[in-house]
Amino acid sequence: MTWRRGPHGSAKLRLVRLVLAGLLLSTVALAADPCVKVTQQTSKEGLELWAELSSCSEVVISVTADETNVTNALPATVESAGRARFLLARWQRLDRNEAWRVADWKYKWKLGRRLSRVPDVTGLFRKPFEGTHKLIQGPYGTFSHFAGSQDEEAFDWAMPEGTPVLAARDGVVVGTRSDCTVGAVDEALKNDANYVVLRHQDGTFSEYHHLREGGVRVKLGERVTSGQLLGESGNTGYTSRPHLHFSVFHTLDGHTRATLPVTFSGVTREPAQRDLIKYGDDEAPAPPLNRRPPAREQQKREDAERALKEAADALNTLGD
Ligand SMILES: [Zn+2]
Repeated sequence: MTWRRGPHGSAKLRLVRLVLAGLLLSTVALAADPCVKVTQQTSKEGLELWAELSSCSEVVISVTADETNVTNALPATVESAGRARFLLARWQRLDRNEAWRVADWKYKWKLGRRLSRVPDVTGLFRKPFEGTHKLIQGPYGTFSHFAGSQDEEAFDWAMPEGTPVLAARDGVVVGTRSDCTVGAVDEALKNDANYVVLRHQDGTFSEYHHLREGGVRVKLGERVTSGQLLGESGNTGYTSRPHLHFSVFHTLDGHTRATLPVTFSGVTREPAQRDLIKYGDDEAPAPPLNRRPPAREQQKREDAERALKEAADALNTLGD
């Protein structure tokens, strides 16, 4: 079919161009985070998965597969712990007289590392920007920081694109992304924000999300000090307006992480959420002050400890 240039031809062409541009943008925006690449190596007696990292250095990866007559010498969850290339799974045939098969292997990853003990980070962080910006969603917010979600202790401050985003604490850059171009309230864009992630001396991580395209000003592995420029704010990923998303977290496995309650230096005498309102605008809705129920916190801690122990046991049985 060809378009004829009739009275509405140019409008149609504009529409086609718009649709094509939209498709192109979403293709670019939806390109997977290039940080983790997994390849398989097969032999007569088994199959190995290797992970290779490019734009990040700290990830936790969980693997599942449909297994027949094999054993995996590695735990289901493996962390990079600073390695750029590492073994993710090593399946070996169990009974040499029977056929073996590993099918449909899948992996999920999260930036970060597991902690055997979760530290108290009260007062260790500063605001990740200068001046004042309106808090549009605090911990337990009902847009995307729901109680029980993986962002429940996070903060969102509205700010114009291009606002300097600063390190909230001394740390090392362990993850960056800056190739995303699009932002919208669209679930499909949840993993398509530009970001910087820092690792801190106590093993916790802080994240700075929705940076503008090309808006990262630090390099992987770089040591940064509190207040140092990390990048420029933007509006990429799952977002309703230009803003900065910030949280402090540790990682439990390739699917799950836990954010930590944060108070900011200089304003630690009162509950953090109430203080944060002072940074922004009195009209900003006050986030609820109720904390995460202690039982859930305890459960998460126990889950993390158990996962660590399983990992250690599995590695001990690995031999060399
Ligand atoms: Zn957020």
